[in-house]
Formats: sequence, C-alpha cells, structure tokens
Amino acid sequence: EEGSKGRESGYWRLSKLAVPARDDPGKDFTGISLPLLQAIAKAIKFPVPSMLPDEAFTVIRKSFDARKVLKEPQFTYIVDMDVKKILNIEPRAWDFIARLEPKLGVVEYMTEEKLAVDLVSMLNVSSKGSNNVLGIRDTHSGMIYRQQKKPRVAVIGSGPSGLFASLVLGELGAEVTLLERGQPVEQRGRDIGALAVRRILQPESNFCFGEGGAGTWSDGKLMTRIGKNTDGVQAVMKTFVHFGAPPNILVDGKPHLGTDKLVPLLRKFRHHLRELGVTIRFNARVDDLIVEDGQVKGIVVSDVELQPGPASQKLAFDAVVMAVGHSARDTYSMLWQHNVDMSPKSFAVGLRIEHPQELINSIQYSELAAEVQRGRGRIPVADYKIVKSVGERDAENELDIAEPTRSCYSFCMCPGGQVVLTSTNPSELCINGMSFSRRASKWANSALVVTVSSHDFKPFQSHGPLAGVEFQRQFERRAAMMGGGNFVVPAQCVTDFISNRLSVTTLPPSSYRLGVRPSNLHELFPPYITEALQESLIMIDREMPGFVSSKALLHGVEVCFQTRTSSPLQISRHGETYESTSLRGLYPTGEGAGYAGGILSAAVDGMYCGFALAKQLSLFHGDI
Ligand code: FAD
Repeated sequence: EEGSKGRESGYWRLSKLAVPARDDPGKDFTGISLPLLQAIAKAIKFPVPSMLPDEAFTVIRKSFDARKVLKEPQFTYIVDMDVKKILNIEPRAWDFIARLEPKLGVVEYMTEEKLAVDLVSMLNVSSKGSNNVLGIRDTHSGMIYRQQKKPRVAVIGSGPSGLFASLVLGELGAEVTLLERGQPVEQRGRDIGALAVRRILQPESNFCFGEGGAGTWSDGKLMTRIGKNTDGVQAVMKTFVHFGAPPNILVDGKPHLGTDKLVPLLRKFRHHLRELGVTIRFNARVDDLIVEDGQVKGIVVSDVELQPGPASQKLAFDAVVMAVGHSARDTYSMLWQHNVDMSPKSFAVGLRIEHPQELINSIQYSELAAEVQRGRGRIPVADYKIVKSVGERDAENELDIAEPTRSCYSFCMCPGGQVVLTSTNPSELCINGMSFSRRASKWANSALVVTVSSHDFKPFQSHGPLAGVEFQRQFERRAAMMGGGNFVVPAQCVTDFISNRLSVTTLPPSSYRLGVRPSNLHELFPPYITEALQESLIMIDREMPGFVSSKALLHGVEVCFQTRTSSPLQISRHGETYESTSLRGLYPTGEGAGYAGGILSAAVDGMYCGFALAKQLSLFHGDI
C-alpha cells in the first residue's frame, strides 16, 4: 500500500533509455527531445509518446555509446520521471504506469524523500562568507557542524584535495593558510607558455606545480571510480558548477572541462577562499615540519621567488593538511626523515600513444565519423578504453608464467588533445596529455601503461618507502638521455616498436611541441614491460583494427598513479580521523598520500579530510 501511495506521488528512475544517434539532437543537448520521449514511452509502455509532458522528466545522465556490439551508435539516458506531474496533466497515464512493476536496471522506483536528499554542496549553506556562516553540512554523514573557535590550520598544496580541504575548513571558520609552492594560474600560464615556446622549465611553476595542482593544464576529465552519484562526488561537481563549470557536467556520462574552463574556475575558487578569510600564499614551498613529542607544531616554509636563494620562515599551526600530490619527491623525502609511516604502492609505467583523431573516429564510429567535425558536431570526439591481461615473463630465466599477472591498460585518454611535458626537473622526462574544452585538435593521445608492484622495486630497496619513486625516476632519466636533452622526447612508430626496429624513416607528426627523436623504445624499459606493451598492442589491434598503424607514435615515458588507491607510496592514516598513524597533527590527503587518483577523487578526499579534521578541532557540536 505504502508503495502504491508513494508511487503516485514519487519519482521513477528510468535507465538504459536508448536513442539512436541519427535521431538525437546531439551531445550538447540535455533536454527532453521527441525521440527521448519515444524511448520513455516504450519503457513505461505508454502508447502515445507525444502526450507525455516534457516537464515531468529530468535528464540525469546522457552518454554516447558506439560499442560494436550495438546495431548502431546511440545516446543512452537515465531520466527521472515525476509521476505526480504526469498524472496532473494526463490522468489516464496512471492506467499504464500502475500496471508496471519496477524492474531493477530498467525502472527503479524512488520515493520523493530519496530524491529530496540534500546534495547541495556546502557552498549553499553559507554563501556570504565566514562572517555569516551558521554551519556546514557534511554530505557524507548528513551532520551539520557549527562554527565555534578559530584553530590555525596549514593546508599544503592547492591541487583539488588542498582546495577542498581549505574550502571546508574555511567555511567552518578555521584560520586556514593555504601554501602553494607554485604560481597563481595567471603567472603559471605564462610559465607554461615559456616552456612550450622557449624550453624554459620553472622548477616550481609548471604542469605539476602551481595553483590548481597537476590537473589544471589537463584534459579536465571528471570521471571517477568512486561513483558518480555518491554524495561526495555530487557535492564536488556542484561546487565546480558554482564556480563557473558548465552545468552539463552534472548530466554528461563522460564529463570533462578542458584547461580553458579550469583556469577561470580556479580564479573564482581562489576569490571565494579569500572572501572566507583563507590566507593563500603562492611561491611558498614547505620544506620541513616542526615536530615536538610526536606531534606537528608547525612548518618551515621558503619563499621560492626571493633572490638570492629562498628565505625560510617558521610558522606555528594546530594541524597540517598535507595535500602535495605525487610529484613532490622532496616533500616525500622530508616525511621519511621524520619517520612518517609510508609504504610503496603498485602503479603503472609505459608510453603515451598518439594517433590522428580522424583515425580513432573512423575505427570507433565507422561512417558516423564524418559527424564529429573536430568537436563541433553532434557526436562526441571518439575515445577508447582498453584493459588487457598479459602473461608475465620471469626476468631472470625468461620462463613464461602461465597465469596472466600484469595488466596493460589505456589511461587518461585525451581525444582532441596534445602531449605535454610534466617534468619538474630537466634531467627527468615525463609526459602526459591535456586538451581544451572543445577537444578540437587533430590528435588523440592516451597513456598505455603496464602495472608494476613492490616486487619490481626490489633493486631500490635501500630507498625504503621511496623505492617506487626511484624505480620510476630511472626511466625518466633514461628517457631524457634518449631524447638527447632540451626536453626532446624519444619516440617510435608503433609498427616499428612491435617489430623492435629503430624508426629510420621520418616519424609521423606529433602534437608534442618540444620535439621528438627517433629512438628504439625497447631500450627504455626492462623486457617484462616492453613485451607486455607489444603483446597488448597486438591484442588491441584485433579489437580495434587500424590501431597498430604507421601513423601512430609512441612517446616515452608515462607514469600512471590513477588507480583508486595508487601512488608510488601511501602515507598511513587512521580511517575515521584522517590523521597520520605515526605523527599527530598531520593529515595526509589526496593523490600524493595514496588515497585518490584523479581530480574528482582527490577533491572528495580533501573535502572529507576537512570534515574529519573539523571534528577533531571541535569546530562543531552536532546538529543545529
Ligand atoms: P596535485 O593536484 O598534484 O596538487 C598538489 C599541489 O601541491 C601542487 O599544486 C604542488 O605545487 C603543491 N605542492 C607540492 N609540494 C609542496 C610543498 N612542499 N609546499 C607547497 N606546495 C606543494 N586527472 C583527472 O581526473 N582527469 C584528467 O583529465 C587528468 N589529466 C591530467 C593531465 C595532466 C597533464 C596531469 C599532470 C594530471 C592529470 N590528471 C587528471 C591527474 C590529476 O591532476 C591529479 O590526480 C590531481 O590533480 C591530484 O590532486 P591532488 O590535490 O592530490 O594533488
């Protein structure tokens, strides 16, 4: 009975609604089209689609699906249906709706209350700055916290995790100082320009360091394995929209921002933090922690712009949030010197592969490829995702091990993007991919990486928890030497890589602006990595004929930490409090601490770290 009463006034979630691509208004339209109404009518067995009122439906998710198993490419929707609105306008609809039993996966019944769950981010609780803050809602536990006093908190790093930790703590009224070794986005943009044009690498202001962290000059893909619909992810996405991201990121099945959207968003974020009273210091590199009786009491910070040489300053804090990302190797060493509990983690290394985007479009979409029009068409620029298991070879005796023990997978695929340099040191060469929001470049690039684990790091055991970092560094140094310096990247045509021969003819063109040098990339990695890459490429080509092509170029070297809990190491922390297990007052968070991989999961981790710390600093006392 309760069910039927609820059903008359509640919502139904309709999923797997398919609209053929040829009938759909296209990737940028998130409203209710007639073809979508037809798909809805089919799902709820309603005979006259045009009689269904548009206003009764809300698109929750829209994704493009061009898998070969389908008869034709389609857009797939998840839609919420407001039953009351349908009945108001078309009472006869109930005859059809009432007959249906909700079927999991096709039609999921939801009560009004469930949909009314307050996912509104913390920003909506207090939009006028710290003076008017009443409290803040933790979307995870539903608790509302109230401001009481002002403990001093240092947040180190302005990547997604540091920004969200600062936002929560700032909103709650802590006295937050956000310290960032790099430059604000305006100057950082100029520094990155100088790197691309004049080969000048600023060690503290580059693709990894600076306002917004490593993801600022990126593809800005907002996908995550921690669940799109979780409260934390929704709160982060809504906060992005609040700061200027296009609202369709809330609906798009594969949302992405592009660097041109990320930069203004970060400026607004900075402005809001300052309004809250957060002190933001750029060019401020934290070199050391002040520790007394097993507790962090403060930090030692250098102004990296001061000439000659950085001047150090000691600052006292009640707590320190460590959100430094995975490129801050000096910071890792400093933590090791303080005997902070850390352990090496598995990650993945490999190469970045680049194809002409048109080739990927035609492999993935066949005749529909013509409609892509470099990001301006109805159909999104084609991407791909590959995971292969490969048999491991024992490096010492060259015996095949029967069980597949390594994965080779694509990661950080940037359709319509470009290959960029992510080194922070000229003697180490590391690359990644980025794009602009339109994804209009003529290139498609992606990491193609092979998993490695602590077993592989054994030769670097003397580096303790930093063994994985050293393992990674050897390849980056070798790549720099193979490229011949000046950030030139060693590269090889895919067909030549498979047959293990140096590319002697001219290489296919590359989007990488600092130049590529023909090399035999078999010299870069040990055989177990090279062979896993070769084997996988052959398997991928069977699935995506044309992927192995003389037009495709491999670039070295790519390192990927972005599995859910991967990073070259993990800093141990208590699950509830987020506090380091070995050093009181230290709160490791985000990707560098080993608790996130990617923009969204890092932001979510930083946000919850902020809440956990707020509890311990007694910034709240229960519900208000
Ligand atoms: P970071 O973003 O790395 O931020 C750490 C910050 O701390 C940096 O700004 C750094 O300067 C600062 N810092 C470090 N040490 C110190 C110190 N001692 N003192 C003061 N400040 C310090 N992820 C996605 O989800 N989608 C993508 O499309 C995507 N594309 C990417 C493209 C590129 C080129 C790169 C490099 C990364 C990309 N990523 C992407 C990964 C994503 O950027 C990271 O997962 C995410 O930024 C991690 O967030 P974080 O806050 O944990 O660390």
